[in-house]
Amino acid sequence: MQQETIYDVVIIGGGLAGLSLAIQLRRHPYKVLVLEKEQYPFHRVCGEYISFESWDFLESLGYPLSEMNLPVINHFIVTAPNGLKVEQLLPQGGFGISRYKIDNELAQLARQAGALVVEGVKATDVVLVSNINHIQTNQGLYKAKLVVGCFGKRSNMDVKWKRSFINNKATRLNNYIGVKYHVKTNQPQNAIALHNFKDGYCGVSKVEGDEYCICYLTTAANLQAFGGSFKAMEENLLYQNPHLKELFTQSAFLWKEPITIAQISFQKKEMVYNNMLMLGDAAGMIAPLCGNGMSIALHGSKIAAGLLHQYLQRKITYNQLLYQYQQQWQQLFSRRLWVGRFIQRIFGKPFLTSIFLRLLKPFPPIISFLIRQTHGKPF
Ligand SMILES: Cc1cc2nc3c(=O)[nH]c(=O)nc-3n(C[C@H](O)[C@H](O)[C@H](O)COP(=O)(O)OP(=O)(O)OC[C@H]3O[C@@H](n4cnc5c(N)ncnc54)[C@H](O)[C@@H]3O)c2cc1C
Repeated sequence: MQQETIYDVVIIGGGLAGLSLAIQLRRHPYKVLVLEKEQYPFHRVCGEYISFESWDFLESLGYPLSEMNLPVINHFIVTAPNGLKVEQLLPQGGFGISRYKIDNELAQLARQAGALVVEGVKATDVVLVSNINHIQTNQGLYKAKLVVGCFGKRSNMDVKWKRSFINNKATRLNNYIGVKYHVKTNQPQNAIALHNFKDGYCGVSKVEGDEYCICYLTTAANLQAFGGSFKAMEENLLYQNPHLKELFTQSAFLWKEPITIAQISFQKKEMVYNNMLMLGDAAGMIAPLCGNGMSIALHGSKIAAGLLHQYLQRKITYNQLLYQYQQQWQQLFSRRLWVGRFIQRIFGKPFLTSIFLRLLKPFPPIISFLIRQTHGKPF
């Protein structure tokens, strides 16, 4: 099927980066198309804690957070694999909301704003023909003046384009798995807990309604060591942390099976690839323990929307668009990603985690300082 329309902007990927970009671009009369390979609503692996820095921005998109009675999360609990526990106030705090809900509702908002959001359409390549981008998909060809990559942490597009992080050999930084459940449990409603275990950590915090999200990250090697069985890995490895044992054995699990993803990489990525802006996880992924990936995706879309508008109004050249986007992205996010990678290295190791927590426990301001380094200001 060949589409005759030439869109001003085609956005590949309808997660937080792509949908929020579409809503902002539609403040102007641009023809905007979002291609999403899945069907909304759907669950995705994510800890579902959003830092308060994104609150005002989401409301400015027309997403009425204040009316939703969402859990406010202002406490932080961290435990070492041996059970040592540190608890304190979160400097900025955040709120809990499931991706099932927020992604679906942002897709509706994007449609109301006039963007075309098509589901079940997977982009497979982008080729420039006479200055028009031809976006090849499993459902035919789309054409656009501009294409933006919002396709998340690891996409078929990355594989097709042989991006450097795909080609790198498996290391501690590029071969993680993520696992998520929704449960009913009696954990504190206003806290996000981060329970460490050997080569991994598990977050738990409340989302809307009476559900909690349990989401953990660990190495692919850990899963292989238990014959690929999540249950065996949880019972033999995660349960060594007494807080995780209590959480898993005393919660009611709402799904028969967890949702899972593999081959998660935290290596550096390009913010511009194939002459296209990359947004959100496609530009670089912060370690999940920072709870800041969603805010980076949203904030990145704000920078991109402003620059794309200037380009479409012929106020800047295409080279200036690419250059300024990379500059601003680096300035805002690269330090956070670096700190995230540093903390993640420590948290994977039982001995180091225990020492780290034992040393920091009497000094809450240092813990607050570290948390602040992984977060940004409202935008
Ligand atoms: C274990 C784990 C826990 C996390 N916990 C948190 C947390 O608590 N708080 C937080 O802020 N962040 C967290 N994150 C990070 C957060 O999930 C991401 O940073 C965020 O989702 C990035 O948004 P995005 O729009 O870039 O990508 P995504 O939300 O992944 O969206 C990308 C979209 O692109 C679509 N897509 C991919 N390829 C194609 C294609 N070829 N054609 C069409 N569509 C395509 C996908 O289906 C997807 O819908 C966590 C991440 C992990 C792995």
